[in-house]
Amino acid sequence: MYCNFIDGKWVEGQAVSTNINPSDTRDIIGHFARASEAQAQAAFAAASEALAEWAAWGPQQRSDALDSIGSEILARRDELADLLAREEGKALPDARGEVLRAGQIFKFFAGECLRLPGELLASTRPGMTVEITREPIGVVTVITPWNFPLAIPAWKIAPALAYGNTVVFKPAELVPGCAWVLAEIISRARLPAGAFNLVMGSSREIGNVLLNDPRLAAISFTGSEGTGRKVAQAAVARPGGMARFQLEMGGKNPLVVLDDADIEVAVACALDGAYHATGQRCTASSRLIVTDKVHDRFVAAMLAKLPGLQVGDARNPATRIGPVVDAAQLAQDVDYIQLGQREGAELVYGGQAIAEVEGKPGFYLTPALFVGASPAMRICQEEIFGPVAAVIRVADAEQALAVANATPYGLSAGVCTTSLKQAAQFKRGLQAGMVMVNAPTAGVDPHAPFGGRKGSSYGPREQGRYAAEFFTQVKTSYINP
Ligand code: NAD
Repeated sequence: MYCNFIDGKWVEGQAVSTNINPSDTRDIIGHFARASEAQAQAAFAAASEALAEWAAWGPQQRSDALDSIGSEILARRDELADLLAREEGKALPDARGEVLRAGQIFKFFAGECLRLPGELLASTRPGMTVEITREPIGVVTVITPWNFPLAIPAWKIAPALAYGNTVVFKPAELVPGCAWVLAEIISRARLPAGAFNLVMGSSREIGNVLLNDPRLAAISFTGSEGTGRKVAQAAVARPGGMARFQLEMGGKNPLVVLDDADIEVAVACALDGAYHATGQRCTASSRLIVTDKVHDRFVAAMLAKLPGLQVGDARNPATRIGPVVDAAQLAQDVDYIQLGQREGAELVYGGQAIAEVEGKPGFYLTPALFVGASPAMRICQEEIFGPVAAVIRVADAEQALAVANATPYGLSAGVCTTSLKQAAQFKRGLQAGMVMVNAPTAGVDPHAPFGGRKGSSYGPREQGRYAAEFFTQVKTSYINP
């Protein structure tokens, strides 16, 4: 039985969840404690108590602690990647990449502990200066989704701790194994009891406490848009004062392929962006917007390459596309594929659910490619969150840009072109937080800011130096000497 970590102690929950491997549903990964409301409250009490001691540790000690966490993640890369692949279904190369990123993030923020930014301004008042410093915000609730079960917790927990806050971490129900192992690694850094707490369990059972506890100062959330709205409403309505909140939500990311694109590069970007990690990425390129002149060549090249994306057990080294995470997500993907056909798009590849691969029962789905899609179709407007992409044919670059921007989302966007002028125009014109030229829409470096616009995000960016905007509060001081 894997326990919650509250106030520096491992504690059993009010109930137990059993976690299964989506590549082989007979394989039970473990039994995980589900926290009660009272335990979630105890976590906030501990986190609140720990604030003073954690602040007293000072930047060097905090840096050393985060560095040791990063080192252990990196040293255990193969083992953690295997767990991630087994629990979430991400193919091993993608899983290894995620573990590396989680380790690098802790290392980056270990450095940031020693680089807390401040500013000194001249004052309009004679003999005085204006000093701008940054302080911790307090107790932070960290709520994460299942699709990056190590990297997303890392990019919230590491900056929260680096800037002197304490944490109550609630992972997604589907991935307690990765959350538990991360908590175990953090527990070995011997932070003050309560500085970091893990409460696993159901959002129905403890969501109310996670969003409303009077001791929390901020909520950093990544997940679906629907849950994001609930987080925002709760943060604003919270008794005892509003909580600060940051939301990273869905995407419907376009990859534009222009007349002058290198088709080989465009196909590589599309295959990676649309299908790797089984398309279960908020940054997945689910809309492939291709100009008329190269459309047929691009589709033919995609069809030639798609059979090479082997679907199978995430831990089989030959697998490129692991299973969908669970039965509910698989049903959603299949529903959208059927909807796309009803809407009049043509399914030219894949989209078949497979009950068993190599004798292993799992939630397998072959990567699906639609052509003849139009921008207003629901499959081109709503996030599917599976290995499903739709090609939209457009006349020219101008129409491509308009179509790329025509969704409620604005997380990541890509363009494939060999023209510097077109690259510059799309970089300026795309309504997205991240723009990739001749590169997949997914992923940014661990030290670069991550986030979107429109319905995809709310609040300051995550990662890199920009994380300080959310995880610190600014103080403006004057001294009249
Ligand atoms: P989800 O919204 O169902 O759950 C996210 C987290 O919120 C989970 O930990 C869940 O337990 C918790 N939660 C749900 N209801 C809650 C409540 N009422 N109170 C407190 N906590 C609650 O999302 P998911 O299915 O886990 O993840 C998939 C979604 O995440 C997709 O929409 C995807 O685009 C998005 N995502 C966004 C980013 C990004 O950075 N923009 C990154 C990864 C995933």
